[in-house]
Order: sequence, then C-alpha cells, then structure tokens
Amino acid sequence: MKNYIIDLNFYNIMSKDLTLNLKENNVPISIGENLVFSLDFLNFCKTLGNRFVIITDQNVEKLYGEKLNLFFQNQHMDSFIISIPAGDSFKTRETKALIEDQMLQKKINKSALIIALGGGMVLDMAAFVASTYYRGIPLVMVPTSLLAMVDASIGGKTAVNTKEGKNLIGSYYHPKKIFIDLQFLKTLPKEEYRNGFSEIIKYGIIYDKDLFSSLYEKTQGHDLEEIIYKCCLIKKTIVERDEKENNIRAILNFGHTLGHSLENLESYKISHGEAISLGMIFASFLSVKMKILKREDFFKIFSMFKKYHFPLVFSQNISAKDIFDKLLSDKKAKLNRNFVLIEKIGSIKEDIYLQEVDEKILKKALFWLCNRFSSKAELWK
Ligand code: NAD
Repeated sequence: MKNYIIDLNFYNIMSKDLTLNLKENNVPISIGENLVFSLDFLNFCKTLGNRFVIITDQNVEKLYGEKLNLFFQNQHMDSFIISIPAGDSFKTRETKALIEDQMLQKKINKSALIIALGGGMVLDMAAFVASTYYRGIPLVMVPTSLLAMVDASIGGKTAVNTKEGKNLIGSYYHPKKIFIDLQFLKTLPKEEYRNGFSEIIKYGIIYDKDLFSSLYEKTQGHDLEEIIYKCCLIKKTIVERDEKENNIRAILNFGHTLGHSLENLESYKISHGEAISLGMIFASFLSVKMKILKREDFFKIFSMFKKYHFPLVFSQNISAKDIFDKLLSDKKAKLNRNFVLIEKIGSIKEDIYLQEVDEKILKKALFWLCNRFSSKAELWK
C-alpha cells in the first residue's frame, strides 16, 4: 500500500514561491505580502496583454478592484472592471454571458489579459470566461479570500452552477500565474476566515497529520503564510500527479459530495466552507460505519469543526431522501454511491480512498445527519 505523504520539510526553504508543474505548462505561484499594486505585478501583466479586464465581485470591487483599476490607469494602461454580484448563487451561465457581452462590447480580443480578483466564486467564473473567450485568453489569478488562496486558485478547475447541481458546467484552464497576496486578508470577514479553514482542515485530514494536530492544538494566532504555503504545496503535489482527476486527485473532494448536494439544496445560501465541513463530518462518519476509520478519529474530526465554531447546521426543510436523491446525481459520486473515505487522520491510501457505500448504510447515515444537524438541532457556538 502506498501512502501519499511527502516530506514537507524538504520544501521549507526561504522562498515562498512554488511552481505547479503541468504536462503542457507551468504555473508559478507567489506567496507574500504586497505583491499586487507593484511594478513587478504590472510588468508581469504587461507581458501577457495590452488591455486588462479585471473581473471581480461587488464587495471586492469596492475594497480593491477600483484601486487596482486606478493603479493600472495611472501607469497608462488600458484597463477596466467587470463586477458581478457576490455569492455562489451568481456563479451561473447567465452571469458568464453578461461578462462576455461586456467584453465583446468593449471589443476585447485575444490580445487582452483577464485578471481574476476575488474569492473562489470570482476565480471559478473568471477562469471559465478566460477559457472560452476567443477560445482562450491569458489569465492571472489574484485570490482575495483565504479559501481561494489555499484551494480555488490552484489546479485549473473552472465552473458555474446550474439548477441541477454545483459546478456541473466548466473546464480545466490554468492561469499564467497566481499571486497570493496576504494583504487582502486584512478585510476578510470572520466567517470567511472560518470558511478558509474548512479547506485547510481538509488538507490536514487527508494528507498531513502534523498540520491537523497543530490546527487542533492552536485555533488562533496561526502563521497564515506558512499554512497557505503548506496547503498550496499539498494541492500542487496532488494535481501534478493527476491533473484531470482520473484517480488520486479525487481525494481533494473529501466531504464535497455531500457538501455540494447541500449547497445546491440550500440554493447556495449556505457557504461552501460550511457545507463541506458538514460533508467532512459525514464522510468521516461513513468511514467509521464502513469499518475503515476508528471512532476516536471521527470524534477528533468532529470536535475540530466545533473548535473552529462552524455552524454545523442546515435547513430543516431538507430531508434525508432529498439528500439521497441529490447525492446520487452528483458527478463527484461518479459510480453512484462512491465516497472519498479515510482510514486515519492525515492519510488516504490509494487502494481504499474511493469506496462504494452500501445503500442501507448510506441511508442510515443520512438520517443521523438530518437528526444531528438540521436547523432544529443545537447550534455549536
Ligand atoms: P466567495 O468567492 O463567494 O467569497 C466569499 C465572500 O468573501 C464574498 O462575499 C466575497 O465578496 C468576500 N471577499 C472575498 N475576498 C475578500 C476580502 N479580501 N475582503 C473582504 N471580503 C472578501 O467564496 P470563497 O469561499 O472564496 O470560494 C467559494 C467558491 O470557490 C465556491 O464557488 C467553490 O465551489 C469554489 N471552489 C473552487 C475550487 C476550485 O478548485 N476551482 C476549489 C474550492 C472552492
């Protein structure tokens, strides 16, 4: 049996720069403070296009989008902003078409560069636009939420949601570079920090027991730069092994099968981070029921999410049957009842990570989930 643990200390060097090495291209990732609004950033962007389209959402526009646009214009660049409403309920084909229409009206062509500035929602959307506009134009990613810094910016997945499900329409398309600038975190609301930690905890559970232990022991005062670097390194390592999710990349979906179903059933009113935190508890519970994971580990994972004050609640209008039906239509559960399961904290083994869960076990687990976490249940404070 092969384990996918890498020696993170090996990479613990001064520079916080990484490169995602792909079959056809490489994507540099810079991590640091005050990277954007600099001449280096401007000069890099200039090498990719003569007109800049900043795609952002309305919150990030006010905080940073207008400032970035002004910065470019002061440097005599032709740039403009396209701003979309915030939130996953706007990550749709309709929003994509509105962005494209604005670009067409401005006569944007292949010589332009898209700069995606925002959280994971903006990045997924802007990257999808970049991948299809004129059959593909250059893209630079500037994640501004913690979740986007540790996860959504890396790996080339782009997507929009539809009524039928989350991220069902999309493509693989990589940016020319990812600038992870910690200055943006200063304005991030508390609950968005927490959402970022859902994916960080995920990396601990699936890949790095030391990361899990350190997050468990200390819930505040983290060295965020170090944590972001570690998470990017883990994601890079997994994506490099399996770019198009034919096998091992699926471990990154731990908790996402249930999470995506809940997001869709809640009409995207529940955040991605909150939904996948429930999804990870559920996948861990299934792992115990499938006799793969020890109960102590399940309780540790559960208490981790309580320690980080995840609300762990969803609407009581959603029944176990609703979730069951939605789960079986989720593309991530490829072979119907296949779930990403874990056998211990910090590692997923190649030959058991994807397991078909017996229908009876799945249904029982869903009843447990609904009894425990629907909005009737206690809120964890
Ligand atoms: P989000 O993009 O909706 O951002 C959350 C909120 O934070 C928004 O209101 C946004 O305006 C605000 N915000 C962002 N940066 C801010 C800042 N610096 N200061 C103040 N407010 C700020 O959500 P998210 O959690 O960043 O990302 C979730 C999305 O990412 C989902 O659509 C999910 O499917 C996607 N995702 C994609 C991948 C991938 O590999 N492509 C991976 C994980 C998640």
